[in-house]
Amino acid sequence: ATGLVWFRRDLRACDHAALYHALTQCRKVHCVFVFDRAILDALPRADRRVAFIREALVELDAALRTLASHPAGGLIVRHALATDAVPELAQALQAQAVYANHDDEPQALSRDSLVRTRLAQTGIAFHTFKDHTLLERDEVLTQAGTPYSVFTPYKNAWLRTIDAFQLQSYAVVRHAHRLAPRPAPECLPVPALGALGFEAAQNTPLGLPTGSSGAMRLFEDFLQRIHRYADTRDYPAIKGPSYLSVHLRFGTISPRLLARSAHALAQGGNPGATTWLNELIWRDFYCQILAHHPHVVERSFKPAYDAIQWETGDEAQALFSAWCEGRTGYPLVDAAMAQLNQTGYMHNRLRMVAASFLVKHLGIDWRWGEHYFATHLNDFDLAANNGGWQWASSSGCDAQPYFRIFNPVSQSEKFDAEGRFIRRYLPQLAALPLAALHAPWRARPLELQEAGVVLGHHYPQPIVDHDSARQRTLQRYAVVKTT
Ligand code: FAD
Repeated sequence: ATGLVWFRRDLRACDHAALYHALTQCRKVHCVFVFDRAILDALPRADRRVAFIREALVELDAALRTLASHPAGGLIVRHALATDAVPELAQALQAQAVYANHDDEPQALSRDSLVRTRLAQTGIAFHTFKDHTLLERDEVLTQAGTPYSVFTPYKNAWLRTIDAFQLQSYAVVRHAHRLAPRPAPECLPVPALGALGFEAAQNTPLGLPTGSSGAMRLFEDFLQRIHRYADTRDYPAIKGPSYLSVHLRFGTISPRLLARSAHALAQGGNPGATTWLNELIWRDFYCQILAHHPHVVERSFKPAYDAIQWETGDEAQALFSAWCEGRTGYPLVDAAMAQLNQTGYMHNRLRMVAASFLVKHLGIDWRWGEHYFATHLNDFDLAANNGGWQWASSSGCDAQPYFRIFNPVSQSEKFDAEGRFIRRYLPQLAALPLAALHAPWRARPLELQEAGVVLGHHYPQPIVDHDSARQRTLQRYAVVKTT
């Protein structure tokens, strides 16, 4: 039989569930990636993620050619509607089956169900597999057979369920001789960004290691410091986390490799590895929340929170723009937004602070912030982003209680105690003494003068007062208390 592997958010040639199953079930296997117009057409013309994907595909194509040991091996790339391109290609290649990995985002599920129907019309099967998460869908349920909505019991059940088999790699290499040469007209290099209608990469410098090789470099670097992860992960000025999120998002590294390593280190008593494994479990947790409760894409996980009245109108728009552009007057929030806008990454602690600030200081609907993150984060992932935003707005499962309101100044004093992160991203404040750096409006006139800072000119006055914002938020959330 001939099989076609459809790559989506799994851009690697090793330890790949769909590729492995195709190679073990078919005599000839082709591989395709579709730059899906249904997704791409809506994106801004300079998008770091499209550049990242393209880089990953160049490596994937080369890796598949090496595995096939044939110059005509490699990846077929289309720029089209995936729902048309995949069935057409499968038919043209006379494939009996298409193989892909699960993607449980609602739009991906409806895309896949359309593809499944179209393939079935020509007698082609569509097989999909778990690959993106360690445990998925109904694999971790309560004793009553319902999905978990609180993290700690989910984590405990996850740890009881995971075993060596689930963590094992798929031995793609052993069966790689079944990778077929591409038909002559398909032997084309991965298209350049310009050909896809996007700006060339040099206009949006990525500044991050790409492809599976880049992911492995990051992971090896992280393994040198994983033992410190629990102590360093909350401090944005320190190289604490792994920076692997974009690679996990696009599958340039196998989640099984990461979890297997972390699990083994954790069992050996490495405290950082235990904490890091927890984060990978959070990732699975939010994926299963999205799979079981797709309403979270539009609405609050906890329905009572849909009654909250958010700010609207011109004033809310102006506050929102100030937040997006890092002009709130709260240095930690503004530095966080500068990091996002300049690099496409934001440190986890800062995501919590910035999200909380938008919702609980400015009274703006979490969905506005979620959407902004979705367009700017390299690692944007619907399940994790929605989970993070609903956590910050208290509307989510196992979320921050509504009355817990981060104080952006004390967060700054605690997590950027030396002001190194703020100074890096807000150079206009760099000369301020430390105490003033966290709250410039409290600086003495002489301090501001010596640092060359005129508030309202070089840097904004705070757009809200913390105490009154706190009171307004408690009133806003009162509707939740009564239900
Ligand atoms: P590490 O600390 O090294 O963690 C390792 C991996 O664990 C991450 O790469 C990620 O895949 C996973 N992970 C860590 N924390 C979480 C979490 N809370 N939820 C789910 N998975 C997690 N993460 C995304 O991958 N995409 C998003 O769009 C996203 N949006 C977020 C929005 C908000 C408001 C918040 C509070 C968090 C969001 N996160 C998101 C989670 C987290 O901030 C990032 O995964 C993390 O900062 C990525 O950096 P890292 O790879 O260095 O993480």
